[in-house]
Amino acid sequence: MSDYKPLAHQKALVTGANSGIGEGVAIALGQAGADVVVNYVEGDDAAAAVADRIRQFGCNALVHKADVSREDEVDDMFGRAVSELGTIDILVNNAGIQRDSDFADMTVEKWNQVIGVNLTGQFLCSRAAIREFLRRGVVPSISHAAGKIICMSSVHQAIPWAGHANYATSKGGIKLLMESMAQELAPKRIRVNGIAPGAIQTPINASAWNTPDALKRLLTLIPYGRIGLPEDIARAAVWLASDDSDYVVGTTLFVDGGMTLYPGFSTNG
Ligand code: NAD
Repeated sequence: MSDYKPLAHQKALVTGANSGIGEGVAIALGQAGADVVVNYVEGDDAAAAVADRIRQFGCNALVHKADVSREDEVDDMFGRAVSELGTIDILVNNAGIQRDSDFADMTVEKWNQVIGVNLTGQFLCSRAAIREFLRRGVVPSISHAAGKIICMSSVHQAIPWAGHANYATSKGGIKLLMESMAQELAPKRIRVNGIAPGAIQTPINASAWNTPDALKRLLTLIPYGRIGLPEDIARAAVWLASDDSDYVVGTTLFVDGGMTLYPGFSTNG
């Protein structure tokens, strides 16, 4: 267990924290000293298990079920977090879904579900967090910043993705949402940044790694030669949430084993 506690006395809220990347991030924030709100939309037992892991580091953990695409549920969640933890210093906008379809067959329902959770969900949670950051301001003994937001994007904020137009559009939207918030709020000492994961081994993309053939095909897209793990993203999130990255504002950190390096050109195109 690491003794380095860069997030001591800070309060974090992680959306979609009972699975995959969000689970890894929530546990790592707890390990770094933060109290954590574990948000999820289904899977009570998994959420409780993440909270137990966080408490083992001596931190407080709240479990809160809420659909991030619903304004009333998001505002209630932040209301509870502030009343029980005192404030929120860190938001990790992580919740995300895929509803894949060929473009010609894509229903409005699939389009709206993905935009609603992935993009509107990040807007709603960011707005609630920013209102709290502005109310409280900087507390120098806690952090140089009044608050930190990390937007979980994807390499598909840059790489178009056939059969996934709704998902790629949501991630492209997150890029400019993140950058616009960062530009507007930096003067208030609020730092907003993004993480763009490559292929990370989680339930969202199981079909891309759960057979030897699928994994072999996937690895042709990853110069570094291995699939990513939630811990790879969690370490980046801890850094972006801490004062160690205090001068990092409006940046997307690609954590992708080189997936965005056009690996198809590595053998001379
Ligand atoms: P996952 O399916 O394991 O986890 C998704 C989480 O989001 C779950 O906890 C789920 O409960 C939660 N969630 C879904 N809908 C929600 C809603 N309406 N309200 C609240 N929570 C909701 O997937 P993951 O791979 O851990 O994905 C996490 C994030 O990382 C997503 O934004 C995803 O787009 C992004 N990402 C993942 C990969 C990857 O390779 N796994 C790559 C790039 C980006």
